[in-house]
Amino acid sequence: MYFGIDLGTTNSLISVFENGRPRVLGGSQPLFPSVVSVMDGTLVLGAPARERLVSHPEHTAAAFKRAMGTKKAFRLGWKQYDAQELSALILRALRQRALEETGVAPQDVVVSVPAYFNQIQRNATRAAAIAAGLNPIRLVNEPTAAAIAYGLQDIAAEGHTLVVDLGGGTFDVSIVEVFEKVIEVKASSGDAFLGGEDFTRALFNRLAQEFDLAPKTDAERALLWNAAEVLKLGLTRAQEASCPLPWRDGARALSITREAFTDASASLIQRLRLPIERAIHDAGLSRDEIDRVVLVGGATRMPLVRTLVARLTGKLPESGLDPDQVVALGAATQAALIARDAGCDDVVMTDVSAFSLGFEVARRVGDRIEQGYFEPVIERNTTIPVSREFVFQTTQKGQREILFELFQGEAPLVRDNIALGKLLVAVPRNRADYEIVIARLSYDSSGLIEIDTKVASTGATRSIVITDLTGGLSERELDARRKTLAALKVHPREGAENVALSARLERCFAMALGEDRVTIQDMLALFRQALERQHLSEIAALREQIGQTLDQFEAGYVR
Ligand code: AMP
Repeated sequence: MYFGIDLGTTNSLISVFENGRPRVLGGSQPLFPSVVSVMDGTLVLGAPARERLVSHPEHTAAAFKRAMGTKKAFRLGWKQYDAQELSALILRALRQRALEETGVAPQDVVVSVPAYFNQIQRNATRAAAIAAGLNPIRLVNEPTAAAIAYGLQDIAAEGHTLVVDLGGGTFDVSIVEVFEKVIEVKASSGDAFLGGEDFTRALFNRLAQEFDLAPKTDAERALLWNAAEVLKLGLTRAQEASCPLPWRDGARALSITREAFTDASASLIQRLRLPIERAIHDAGLSRDEIDRVVLVGGATRMPLVRTLVARLTGKLPESGLDPDQVVALGAATQAALIARDAGCDDVVMTDVSAFSLGFEVARRVGDRIEQGYFEPVIERNTTIPVSREFVFQTTQKGQREILFELFQGEAPLVRDNIALGKLLVAVPRNRADYEIVIARLSYDSSGLIEIDTKVASTGATRSIVITDLTGGLSERELDARRKTLAALKVHPREGAENVALSARLERCFAMALGEDRVTIQDMLALFRQALERQHLSEIAALREQIGQTLDQFEAGYVR
């Protein structure tokens, strides 16, 4: 039996892969609210804890996934917990649920995480699973899990899938590419503060206005909120929804149409657009290149979301799986794919880095040199494993050393990013000129980072390996991963296929005349620029395209 866990912000699920297919556990109540409460000194988890969110908020913690990997303290009565500890409690409860239903205590599990989680958040998730008595054999990105649930790891399903995930409080958009059995998250985007609850709030405000209701107490607000939630769900099923609202001196009859709801949500719908467009753009695609659309998260059931997504992509979203269960089903399938030897182990997963990695550099501001600026070297959404080379120089003549300090993040100043490690490189004292150091940064999905430097004038090299983010990989695994990275440590300029294509371009240029020469020279320039950018997939695509043009040219020439 193979188990998968969707550790969600609002709800979590555990699923099992059995008899060739995945299913979620928990009977008619598979959603396990990610809420922890303390009652008379004992812990309460899941649905009863969620009830206490309203009655005993000071003893109850929810939405702690947002604080994963931070030290943020959640006070439950007299004791404090961090997000990792609270998540471990939820994971333990899910493990118990699986044990009771299947008779098997899950050991090896695949746990899903948002694609944008950084290594610290991933490590915290892994540590929470271990603390819950589980062995997290892999963390799978949520959009990847969604694609797997729809069987898109199949070679027959090659192409680009847009995964739109709208939960209670967050919105994540990813582009997943399946190519020769490799599933790759090409880009992710989103809005951390947009979800189904915002639509309930929009409806709440519209109802208050339309029916002249001005809730004065928390109890009145809760009543109106519930009515808004009921109507929102009703509008998913029908064009119009109504419900009674017990209100002060009697009951009121509330009703609303889909049209009015869409109108009340106009600004939210606008906010859904942007991340979808950005993800498609970041993946370097046009809307016609999206082959499939998959919806995840309860709030994607709303017809207005489906309509918007269909309009933006020109595709009808896939349906068939319960959007609340998609990620958990995919996680269990992933566990089975990893464990099973039969024909499935050639499904390789690759990933993108969820954040940028780079060094601190100095900048000239007027006539002063200011330290503290962040120079990204591997940008977010780069396919990993990756290895890039960059050239740095001393800021002053006569300088004796350069400090390479590595940071992770998206802020322009390093002090707002996360420091990961440093390497001090000595350079010869050169009073006449600046010294140049070539730095290579390599990074893979386990969090393994290597920095290799070479002083241009002397050829002296220095390297460090940063394993802090790898979250307890064994020496053997680290070794294997270092070998994979080592294979990437060639500048694309020196890669055999690229050297061959450059030579072929030069040869064809020599053969050609007139217009053809201009075309070939343009291609050569384009190719050289792409080599300098060091984006391997871009280079491969260009190589293919240029190769075809040259084939035609040579065929014509021979004729
Ligand atoms: P999740 O975090 O994925 O469980 O999503 C929860 C959100 O989905 C909440 O805001 C729910 O109100 C919303 N939701 C669940 N079912 C429906 C439905 N049938 N129609 C509209 N929204 C729904």
